[in-house]
Amino acid sequence: MKIVETVEKVREQVRSWHREGLSVGLVPTMGYLHEGHKSLIDRAVAENDRVVVSVFVNPMQFGPSEDLESYPRDMERDAALCEEARASLIFHPQPEEMYPEGFSSYVDMNTLTEGLCGKSRPIHFRGVCTVVAKLFHIAEPDRAYFGQKDAQQLAVIRHMVNDLSFGIEIVGCPIVREEDGLAKSSRNTYLNQDERNAALVLSRSLKKGRESVEGGEKSAAALAGRIRKEIQAEPLAKIDYVEVVDWNTLEPVEEIHKPVLVAIAVYIGKTRLIDNFIYE
Ligand code: AMP
Repeated sequence: MKIVETVEKVREQVRSWHREGLSVGLVPTMGYLHEGHKSLIDRAVAENDRVVVSVFVNPMQFGPSEDLESYPRDMERDAALCEEARASLIFHPQPEEMYPEGFSSYVDMNTLTEGLCGKSRPIHFRGVCTVVAKLFHIAEPDRAYFGQKDAQQLAVIRHMVNDLSFGIEIVGCPIVREEDGLAKSSRNTYLNQDERNAALVLSRSLKKGRESVEGGEKSAAALAGRIRKEIQAEPLAKIDYVEVVDWNTLEPVEEIHKPVLVAIAVYIGKTRLIDNFIYE
């Protein structure tokens, strides 16, 4: 497995694979890899001849008061995980490689990005779309793999690929959880023991929500209310949002119809965590 830091080197490698008739899968990440990322890499390895994993903490998708500086990084461990998962290449650029001086072009979206995480993170999806569009041009993959953990991101990328005719298949992968239900996330490392316990309220509240939908609840407001009540009972938790939206448009719904996305963002202490389920 190779680790390369420049756009040129990725291009050279990927184009030679394509010339040999090999298919290429791309897994974009911000590193500090865990089992959630590994599930994407495993799927990509199963479905493609060669797999590129990008490891890049993208400054453009972080707001000024967010955790860009403190975001965890461990390239050695990431490389070992990728090697073991049989990825072929890691693209690990420095910010200057992705955004050289004078950089001034962006990919923006008028729909899907205003609600949910876009409300409290207004520049986030512009950063995500721009970096992912660049990664698509650099790695020229046949398929790209994204987790349902970041459900809005998955919907936004699908929409971008369709709008801009990228000709890349977007594969959504299920959420990988800890044994006790907490969705795996690089940001879980921020939690102290009390917060780690409190963080279970995310998956627990969604489980209750899912039970009430499966039990026939049709009102989105009642469903959201039930989830809120569960979260509000946890003293260390502060709700950013609890939303019930159409899974394709991400517009809020009043009555629950399939498919809906039930998504939450909750501060546990200072750490903002997200989780969701899709009712299909
Ligand atoms: P990140 O490094 O957090 O930007 O995540 C990179 C990719 O891994 C994104 O497509 C995420 O949705 C996905 N991912 C992160 N955590 C999980 C998880 N627990 N289960 C499934 N996919 C995940």
